[in-house]
Formats: sequence, structure tokens, C-alpha cells
Amino acid sequence: MRINSIYLATEGEGIWVGTVQIFVRFNGCGIGCNNCDSSYTWSFNEGLDMSLTEVLAEIHQVGHNGLIKRVSITGGDPLNCKNYDAAMSLAKSLKEKNYYLNIEASGDRVAKELFALVDFISMDYKTPSSGVNTPLSVITQMIDQFSGKFQVKSVIENLQDFEYVKNAYTEIKRGLRAINFSWVLTPSYNTNEAFPKERFESILNWNESCGGHFRVVGQQHKWVYGPKKTNV
Ligand code: SF4
Repeated sequence: MRINSIYLATEGEGIWVGTVQIFVRFNGCGIGCNNCDSSYTWSFNEGLDMSLTEVLAEIHQVGHNGLIKRVSITGGDPLNCKNYDAAMSLAKSLKEKNYYLNIEASGDRVAKELFALVDFISMDYKTPSSGVNTPLSVITQMIDQFSGKFQVKSVIENLQDFEYVKNAYTEIKRGLRAINFSWVLTPSYNTNEAFPKERFESILNWNESCGGHFRVVGQQHKWVYGPKKTNV
């Protein structure tokens, strides 16, 4: 397994904000979002080359010798075809050991077998500022197949991003699907800027004005540790 880091921290974003868990961060991502805050994980050649046994032992140790039984598999992109088999083996082993598993998914596809195995999926719906497109069909597949065990997260940089997500929401409702999941808007907080209070306020106002379809949740770990700090 090509591992960037394994560490214990408190979830800083999305609906599980404030929850203590062990992060297993894979190296390697081929997606290349403009606003990625973990570009240090992109290389498929860097990071630690660890066996499954070594990863499991590290998770046990980092989680206070098994006291913390919650793991978030993240990246990089754990669903990239170069990481997928390793992520699958890891998920199987951790479920056998009764860990609660979250997986961070980039939004480029629905990985049915792995998603069926984990307890929760955090699915990105990319916005124009990222320079990456998420097919709307990914969200509708999640509604149809994984109802009750996923959230959608969208990073919002500006009004164009917000309008884009709002249109996607409307399009899904037009398809007669119930929005029965949390769609989280994450105000962007880039590594080269101070806390973007004005952007945050604008996004709160836009959401309140449009009917409050979304949950606006900031990145708590960046307020506490600063936007450049890793492994927090
Ligand atoms: S998918 Fe995630 S890790 Fe990959 S470039 Fe986008 S934000 Fe970064």
C-alpha cells in the first residue's frame, strides 16, 4: 500500500465534524483539483510502501491500542485504480475487526463493492473553481444505491460555484428524487489566505436566501491549526 500518513485527529469538516478518528491517507491522485489542499499526496511514487499487516498494526497503535475504532480512508484518491485493491483489502480487514469506516470519495465514480462494505461515504461534488467535473449521475446513483449512508461535499469559492451546486440540486429534484442526504457546502479556505470571513458570510446568506437546501460547514481544523498544517 502506498501510504502518505496514518494519524489520529478530530474530523474538521462535513457532518462528522468534531469526531475523533484515525485517518489513513493514501498517496496518489490523478484528478488534480485547482483548489486541492493536499497536493503533497498526488504522487503515486512517493509515500511509505507498507504491507496490510503494517498498516493494521499502525492503526491499532495510533488509535491508543484499539481504543479508537473509527477510521477514515482518504487521500490522495483511495478509489484510484492504483489504490483500489489495497483500499478494499484494508476495508475488509478493518470491518472484520469491527471498525466504523468512512471513505472519502472524489466523485468521479461509484465504487459499488467498496461502498457496500464501508459504513459511510463522503462523496465530493466538484464545483467550477476546482476545474473538475462530477457527473450528476454519480449523485443519483448514490441516492438509488446508498441511501442513508453518504453525504455530498462541495467546496464553494464564489457565487458561480454556489449557483452551479444549486442548479444540480434543482436538477436532481426535477428527476423526482428526494434529497434525503446532507449536502454540505464547504467554504474554501485556501492555504495562502487568512480566514475568509467575507466568503463564509456570503455563502451563509446565499444558502439562507435560496431556501436552505444545504448545510454550510467550515473547516474547523484550519481555524484551529492554520490552513497549511497537515495531519490534523
Ligand atoms: S480529488 Fe482530492 S486529493 Fe485529488 S486533487 Fe481533488 S481534492 Fe486533491
